[in-house]
Amino acid sequence: MSSTPASTSRAPVNLPAAILFGASTLLLLSVFPLYAWFHDFSAAAWVWFFVFLYASGISITGGYHRLWAHRAYEARLPLRLFYMLFGAQALQNSILIWTSMHRVHHKNVDDVESDPYSIRRGFWYAHMGWMLRDYPCHAVDLSNVQDLQRDPVVMFQHRHYLGLALFMNIGLPLLVGWASGDPWGVLLVAGLLRLVVNHHFTFLINSLAHMWGRRPYTEDNSARDNDLIALFTYGEGYHNYHHLFSWDYRNGVRWWHVDLTKWWIATCSLVGQAHNLRRVPEFRIRRAMIERQFVRAQRRISEAEPTRFEAMQRLLEAEMDAFRTTVDEWTRLQTRKIEAAKRQVIDCVTEHWEHSEARRQLQVLEDALHEQYRRLRVLHLQAV
Ligand SMILES: [Zn+2]
Ligand SMILES: [Zn+2]
Repeated sequence: MSSTPASTSRAPVNLPAAILFGASTLLLLSVFPLYAWFHDFSAAAWVWFFVFLYASGISITGGYHRLWAHRAYEARLPLRLFYMLFGAQALQNSILIWTSMHRVHHKNVDDVESDPYSIRRGFWYAHMGWMLRDYPCHAVDLSNVQDLQRDPVVMFQHRHYLGLALFMNIGLPLLVGWASGDPWGVLLVAGLLRLVVNHHFTFLINSLAHMWGRRPYTEDNSARDNDLIALFTYGEGYHNYHHLFSWDYRNGVRWWHVDLTKWWIATCSLVGQAHNLRRVPEFRIRRAMIERQFVRAQRRISEAEPTRFEAMQRLLEAEMDAFRTTVDEWTRLQTRKIEAAKRQVIDCVTEHWEHSEARRQLQVLEDALHEQYRRLRVLHLQAV
């Protein structure tokens, strides 16, 4: 398969996107330094820079992405309105079109022709290039976002996108700038500079997060986990996890993972703005990690010296047997939990006991997987 199909070079230029990205970059490189030469930027300009950078960034990651594209949680009207307005400030198209494209990306990830921002067409294409031309795979088909067409907030933004985007990017910075006594400084720093910075921060998710980092959960696609990228992308840098468990409201699943969006959503839930936060059960996460470890260990053992190969292979097979037993036990426990939930109406007291007992057993199984993960790491190292 060719890495640069013929359709890439012949696609017509997408004029609105080319003008937007071209003009914002040119203005930033010309007007911004010229203004800075003659004027000092006020403290208010930098405060608004960070406020808007955070608000528009989190509206893309927490709103467009985790709420609307993946339905990882539900949000009350005030939070949805916030995402809708500041999502328009991020200038990445309407919620409806963005979500439609993103769902296609997940469905066809890495396919050169049908992934709208396939990394197999290179860094530049996945980062920005895909938006600069009207490629055939970008024909908008809203049949995959019918659920969102019932959300009046989404549809309001879609119908009034241009007006909202202009107001949020020019009107609002001028307004808060006028209120702080520095309208032009705020427009340049919190409007223009913030827009370009936020564009590139979030575009990194489609480019670098598909190239650079580790793959602890799956090798079925190019998505990577990378703490450094997560730092700049409001937590979206844990992209390997996300492509396997896209309906989890978290991308950085461990408490130490720098996932700003996860903490934001959890805080919104504490103040009653978000609910039904969906989490992948810990057992399933560990199971995915161990399956990945088996593949890596098998690969490493097959490269080991013939004298050690057999012993290592026997160890690996014993671990696989233990793994199968744990997974079978977990499946049995899940079935029991479902049956117990059905009986709950009949006998609440027994049910309580069953649930706490099931929880304890589940914890034992999770611990067993955790231990096995450690043993497999050792085995992997020994096979060198
Ligand atoms: Zn991706
Ligand atoms: Zn996604």
